[in-house]
Amino acid sequence: MFEITAIPALQDNYIWAIHNGTHAALVDPGEAAPALEFLRTRGLELAAILCTHRHHDHIGGIAELRGVYNVPVYGRRHPGNSRVAANPHITDDLREGDRLRLEAIGLDLDIMEVPGHLDDHIAYAAPGMLFCGDLLFGAGCGRNFEGTPAQLHDSLQRLACLPDDTRVYCAHEYTAANLRFALACEPDNPDIRQRVEATRRLREAGLPSLPSTIALEKATNPFLRCREPAIVRTLQAQGLADPGELGVFTALRQWRNRF
Ligand SMILES: [Zn+2]
Repeated sequence: MFEITAIPALQDNYIWAIHNGTHAALVDPGEAAPALEFLRTRGLELAAILCTHRHHDHIGGIAELRGVYNVPVYGRRHPGNSRVAANPHITDDLREGDRLRLEAIGLDLDIMEVPGHLDDHIAYAAPGMLFCGDLLFGAGCGRNFEGTPAQLHDSLQRLACLPDDTRVYCAHEYTAANLRFALACEPDNPDIRQRVEATRRLREAGLPSLPSTIALEKATNPFLRCREPAIVRTLQAQGLADPGELGVFTALRQWRNRF
């Protein structure tokens, strides 16, 4: 069996460590020092590095980690562009439908290509768990830096189709701020109010608000609730022209950017 532990890094990133008694795989190590400290204090050997996308706060620790542990780095190869350079560390290119076997940990992960935050974004899924990088956050979603709003929407919908009890391991602690936006969208949603309280308690105790679950996201995340009449009404009061699902999603994403 294995455990999954959040290693806080940088400002508000989480590096997720999937580990058993001897080995660990790290998802999105944006910083090496806290990851090395975790491995040292737990007496674990690094077995693999998994990348969801090429933003620096997700890959910044890889060079230093690989200086200590010469392990494979999984991710989706991308040529990069002038704004966001390629991830130069990838040793094993993953594509939609691939299955990654983490032998040392005894875990198989299915690869989903989920563009919309960046083009190269992938998610790692196994029964009961999802590592979704910057695509889906607690009560929110990533910014639409590359690709169209329709691509971001489609990618999120794919994740929303996973079983309700799937635990969602997001790469940032953004839940509290996202819930303030969710409440502005749906002031009368009791699930959002409950989650605000639960998140406050966790954060006051110094604990991550994550993982969440697909069920909780479907109940509280406005970006998965674009057909909800209350959200459509809120946006119509701001002059929403297209009340279709994609029109609502696009308007939500734009409003969140300036919220
Ligand atoms: Zn990102």
